[in-house]
Amino acid sequence: ADITRIRNFSIIAHIDHGKSTLADRLIQQTGGLQAREMTEQVLDNMDIERERGITIKSQTVRLDYKASDGLDYVLNLMDTPGHVDFAYEVSRSLAACEGALLVVDASQGVEAQTLANVYQSIEHDHEIVPVINKVDLPAAEPERVKAQIEEVIGLDTSNAVLASAKSGLGIGDVLEAIVKYIPSPKGDRDAPLKAMLVDSWYDPYLGVVILVRVIDGVLKKGQQITMMQAGTQHLVDRVGVFRPKIEIVGDLGPGEVGFITAQIKEVAQTNVGDTITDSRRPTAQPLAGFKEVQPVVFCGLFPTDAADFEKLRDSLGKLRLNDASFSFEMESSAALGFGFRCGFLGLLHLEIIQERLTREYDLDLITTAPSVVYNIHMRDGTTRELHNPADMPDPMQIETIEEPWIEAVIFVPDEYLGSILKLCQDRRGIQKNLTYVAGRAQVTYELPLNEVVFDFYDRLKSISRGYASFDYHQIGHREGDLVKMTIMVNSEVVDALSMIVHRSQSEARGRHMCERMKDLIPRHLFKIPIQAAIGGKVIARETIAALRKDVTAKCYGGDASRKRKLLDKQKEGKKRMRQYGSVDIPQEAFIAALRMG
Ligand code: GDP
Ligand code: MG
Repeated sequence: ADITRIRNFSIIAHIDHGKSTLADRLIQQTGGLQAREMTEQVLDNMDIERERGITIKSQTVRLDYKASDGLDYVLNLMDTPGHVDFAYEVSRSLAACEGALLVVDASQGVEAQTLANVYQSIEHDHEIVPVINKVDLPAAEPERVKAQIEEVIGLDTSNAVLASAKSGLGIGDVLEAIVKYIPSPKGDRDAPLKAMLVDSWYDPYLGVVILVRVIDGVLKKGQQITMMQAGTQHLVDRVGVFRPKIEIVGDLGPGEVGFITAQIKEVAQTNVGDTITDSRRPTAQPLAGFKEVQPVVFCGLFPTDAADFEKLRDSLGKLRLNDASFSFEMESSAALGFGFRCGFLGLLHLEIIQERLTREYDLDLITTAPSVVYNIHMRDGTTRELHNPADMPDPMQIETIEEPWIEAVIFVPDEYLGSILKLCQDRRGIQKNLTYVAGRAQVTYELPLNEVVFDFYDRLKSISRGYASFDYHQIGHREGDLVKMTIMVNSEVVDALSMIVHRSQSEARGRHMCERMKDLIPRHLFKIPIQAAIGGKVIARETIAALRKDVTAKCYGGDASRKRKLLDKQKEGKKRMRQYGSVDIPQEAFIAALRMG
């Protein structure tokens, strides 16, 4: 394609503001799909994505558009993942574009993710076209939202488009604005090949598919390519574009976006952000901004039924074929048997994997407390990363422990501000900024990641009745007074319940855990002490009283069927329990114990 007729753009928005709906409309209006082929939100591929309304894997689509100037344009719409867990993937998609449509719901206005996304887009020097969406809603206030965008983001809205992605209103204007305001890419067709690996995924028919943005040079079938960061070479066997259906093309030139396949078996062999070049005539410099993605949240996954261990291993292996950003290695726990220590990009990522294992692979799992990665500086001068509280070294040998911190931006209506500030304060937050924008407070806090991974988001949503929005990024490790808290049931340590906590939180957390466990562990024929301890010191305790009578005694031996039912029920309960020493701990106890409430 003629480079001056190419427009590469992404759509940025807060969740639910209409990004996917707008993308569908643009595809439909430019004839990418016939009406009957349009299932709603074609870009959201996976079931979980559809159900939760989020975009996990980015997709891209090439649209042909004849503009009002009579010329034919190629518009490449890059769909970006919509969640903070996938911030790096988002940054690479944005780096592959020259502009963005900023979609803002005309009835809601600017939200936390709108800001987070738009600042990223500005960092990539994007030309930004505001699209005020959902103007069909009675509550729509497009002029107020425009003013808010100017005031909060400092973005000129004179080129803003009013649209309803739902009714189709203004979609033509959006297409014209893309052609008019978003600059065409620049690149040199005669220079050595330089292309960015924007994304990759596993396709059962094609193998690993790599989404690329060509910067300089030409990419074609039969070419020997080198991945500069990975240091690997591959033979390109397919070059194509998505319309959104696959179409094979002769080559991809500068400014173009498309895909290649090269007989790669696992996505783990491809790194988002890597530079692809021609092995025979390589480019001198790889692209800037490459980062190796590292899991930030770890937890143990154990099969409820020990016999499912191999099935769990297989399933994790299959999921990893398509998602190189999570990791797993075998782990054994006295309480839970054999399982895997898994690393994720964030809590949503953890939930997605957990849900897929349950749903697609039919596995019944126990998840241990999510933990962040601590840096431990030892007295002997060495430093180690701690992914699992069970591996905490002897405190006597530790010099200092550092924990990861985040900067969070929270948007909340005034009436809930007080409770939100208290929540942040309770989680050791440091307030950095507080401003009011159009009747809403925008609060910036620095928070330790370990205070956020448990249930912060759920709490935030419930406190604000769903109105608060939240976005964060990591800001590095800081020293903290952190200790390992263990839980003992009947005087035995239940390793799966161990957690790293800040000393100032330990008593409250310990008390809470003991109370929870007391409610969740059924009575036995003997008294069961439950204790929380740091080092050897007990900081909280509860006792489960002994069961006085046999459960069946109530039946007076008379009603045999009722007695059998009761016994069956007990047996049923047993299946989902973990025998710990002489105490049965139900599966729910492990999960519930992790929620702070
Ligand atoms: P995303 O999370 O930004 O991808 O948002 P979606 O495209 O999934 O849209 C979220 C919800 O808003 C869906 O129920 C859409 O049907 C609805 N929606 C999107 N655009 C419009 C619009 O222009 N008007 C109205 N009334 N609803 C819309
Ligand atoms: Mg969406």
